[in-house]
Amino acid sequence: MASWQAHFISLLLRTTFKPRLAKAMEAADARRLLESGAAHKVPEDLDVRPGEVAGIAGEWVERHGSAPRATLLHLHGGGYFACSARTHRPYTCFFAEQGFRVFAPNYRLAPEHPFPAAIDDAQHVYLSLVRALAGAHSLVVTGDSAGGGLTLALMQRLREAQQPLPAAIALFSPWTDLATTGPSAIENEASCSMFVSEAIRRGAAGYLGGADALHPHASPLYADMRGLPPMLVHAAEREAMRDDSTRLVERARAAGVEVDFRLWPVVHHDWQMFQPFIPEARESLTIASAFLRARVAQADVAQAPAPQAVPDAAPDVEVCIVGSGFSGIGMAIRLQHAGIDSFCVLEQAGEIGGTWRDNTYPGCTCDIPSHLYSLSFAPKTDWSRMYPTQPEIRAYLHECVERFDLAQRIRLDTRLDSATYDEASGLWNMRTSNGSFSARFLVSAIGGLHRPAIPALPGIESFAGPSFHSARWDHGLDLKGKHVAVIGTGASAIQFVPQIAAQVEQLDLYQRTAPWVLPKLDRPIGPRERWALGHVPGYRTLCRWRLYWRQELFAFGFTLEPRLLDRARKIGLWLLRKQVPSEELRTQLTPTYQPGCKRILISNDYFPTLSQPHVKLVTAGIREVRPRSVLTEDGVERRADVVIFGTGFQATDTLGPLRVSGRGGVRLDEAWRGGMHAYYGTSVPGFPNFFMLSGPNTGLGHNSVIFMLEAQMGYVIDCITTMRRRGLRTLEVRAHVEADHNEALQHRLRRTVWASGCRSWYLDEHGRNVTLWPGFTFDYWRRMRRVDWRAYRTQFGTQARTQAATQAGTQAGPG
Ligand SMILES: Cc1cc2nc3c(=O)[nH]c(=O)nc-3n(C[C@H](O)[C@H](O)[C@H](O)COP(=O)(O)OP(=O)(O)OC[C@H]3O[C@@H](n4cnc5c(N)ncnc54)[C@H](O)[C@@H]3O)c2cc1C
Repeated sequence: MASWQAHFISLLLRTTFKPRLAKAMEAADARRLLESGAAHKVPEDLDVRPGEVAGIAGEWVERHGSAPRATLLHLHGGGYFACSARTHRPYTCFFAEQGFRVFAPNYRLAPEHPFPAAIDDAQHVYLSLVRALAGAHSLVVTGDSAGGGLTLALMQRLREAQQPLPAAIALFSPWTDLATTGPSAIENEASCSMFVSEAIRRGAAGYLGGADALHPHASPLYADMRGLPPMLVHAAEREAMRDDSTRLVERARAAGVEVDFRLWPVVHHDWQMFQPFIPEARESLTIASAFLRARVAQADVAQAPAPQAVPDAAPDVEVCIVGSGFSGIGMAIRLQHAGIDSFCVLEQAGEIGGTWRDNTYPGCTCDIPSHLYSLSFAPKTDWSRMYPTQPEIRAYLHECVERFDLAQRIRLDTRLDSATYDEASGLWNMRTSNGSFSARFLVSAIGGLHRPAIPALPGIESFAGPSFHSARWDHGLDLKGKHVAVIGTGASAIQFVPQIAAQVEQLDLYQRTAPWVLPKLDRPIGPRERWALGHVPGYRTLCRWRLYWRQELFAFGFTLEPRLLDRARKIGLWLLRKQVPSEELRTQLTPTYQPGCKRILISNDYFPTLSQPHVKLVTAGIREVRPRSVLTEDGVERRADVVIFGTGFQATDTLGPLRVSGRGGVRLDEAWRGGMHAYYGTSVPGFPNFFMLSGPNTGLGHNSVIFMLEAQMGYVIDCITTMRRRGLRTLEVRAHVEADHNEALQHRLRRTVWASGCRSWYLDEHGRNVTLWPGFTFDYWRRMRRVDWRAYRTQFGTQARTQAATQAGTQAGPG
């Protein structure tokens, strides 16, 4: 679904720019029009400097102080008669942000300098860069519109002269056919936001200056494509030059060239020029950057000389993420956006998805509305219901992996067994079920609710029938005609009990504490609403924010004024009265603690299920489980063919068997013996370059955990990018800062509803709340927006300094 910004700008261009360009008969008029409004705001962390390569002026763009992995030559568009490096800063700045060192030449323009002057200039610049870099393996070339055609023409020249080709090229709406023979020139004339075919022909004639339009260097569509480097091509579905791309891709693929091709809906020709405004522009450029970096990495492995010894050991991978649920996938996308390309995601299971892969029990849904329970930077507008079901969320996570091309980064069936910090090298050494490797940064995304909690009921090992936890549902077992004992009445149980009640002969539900249950405002999202969410500008964002603030209201009651939760109490009691006719059952189902002290649940079918004759709510404690029955404290023995545990997760001991050892070999589980704790749930003293997502005290009882996770992801990115910029090797939170932070946190928690006397999974064995954030989520977000470097001890890296010095001394500098 295209964004409203893309719709809006396409419409604007079609109604204002296109008619004026069609009328501009003189090249000078068209040049003025194309160059008007070129005022891209350069991000603060970039340097843009005028320079000259091979005597051709242009602009260097790069990030302050960072050591770029690859050099990128950008050939700008503008129909060969207009524009410059300056007008095309939306491209060059974006690529620089992604870690490339970019040079954009001001090649000579037509009609003053017709074909092949532009190609001559491009070739001189390219070869000069190759000489400065001592090879082409870390060089890539990109071009938009006419610059795309020029890039291809340059490739022809290089191949014919047997000169080194770059690691890869990326072409955005390339103009490859100056004869304008593609059907889209006519078919899309009306829908194209920029060109009528006549204007294209006029531009071609000005550049050709009498040369043959079918010359393969002028129209590289007609050239021999064999042996060209890997190429990425992005074009717009409804632009007049669409077929310049589709036919190019067909021919290149037929010639055996590796091509990554995408046709984008709604956007206009060369839409990446609007990257500050159009999400699809940033998405396209992010995908292209990832493509280019990956090809440079491949070329580096193939061609780079053996690395020279440097004082700091280089890690096998810069960032290792453990876990592929929402946290791991989201973190990977954010790293990619930040231009950090060296990372991997370890996943112990054979599939990504975390919680939403493991919990396949009947009726599994999320308690947070769909529009809120999704990554803000990977929006989805076609959710089928207000509250997403498990299959839909699982599919969404798979979509994210595909959309951001992450599959190659994820190592499935690879469990991290131990991670040990090596002080000498400043690296983490990872031991996995599939081998060992090192990383500079370790990001734990193992989640808080992945280890099932199964109570040690007396005699449970003697039970003769099948028994399983709701997160390990046995789909091969037919429950029809069976006596089923369900232990626990938490969030999962109240979802699957109504689903299985219809199949079983007898269902006994063993309850320790009655939950507060409120109505679920669920409904399908119809086609019209889905259309509006995808097309009406701002509507989806408005829905998301409305839901966010609705959920956030609960935080007042939970953390500031528990009396505000009286309304929740009234609604809960009203639902009981409405749905449970039996007074005795109502009494059993009426909670004896404040709403919110344990997680508030939402359901419309839980209470009605419990009133069915073959469903029995058992409130007496379990004395013993026998081979075919369950005996309760009141002496009643009930037949049980199957036992299902709906008893939640070990939320206060998330590490489980995973061994993480920091400075001095101290293990995290030992450091946490008195209970989990971390600085904003993210950093732990003694564990340098280690970050946690959904760490201690970052869970929520009232809003979407994804919001908190995104704040943490942004924080990790801020840490890593700043460290790279400053040449820092390690960062470690100061022990006293972390201790003060936690004391303040626990102080606040003592005044919340969660400390009002109930026994919940939020509290650890010492009664400390180690799971929840004690306030508003926007407050957490605000605190995580910028890293407070005073809270951290940092160490400079000799390697970073040496590299920076070497580059400053030896590389072809700007200008
Ligand atoms: C049934 C259920 C319902 C929920 N409903 C809601 C809700 O309504 N609203 C809400 O905000 N939250 C809800 N949650 C919480 C949910 O867990 C989080 O919202 C979110 O999905 C957590 O994502 P994550 O990536 O941090 O962790 P997870 O989804 O748990 O993913 C962690 C991943 O790490 C992997 N892993 C663990 N250890 C290792 C290792 N040593 N090596 C390699 N891989 C490892 C796991 O296999 C897993 O894939 C619910 C949770 C459950 C279980």
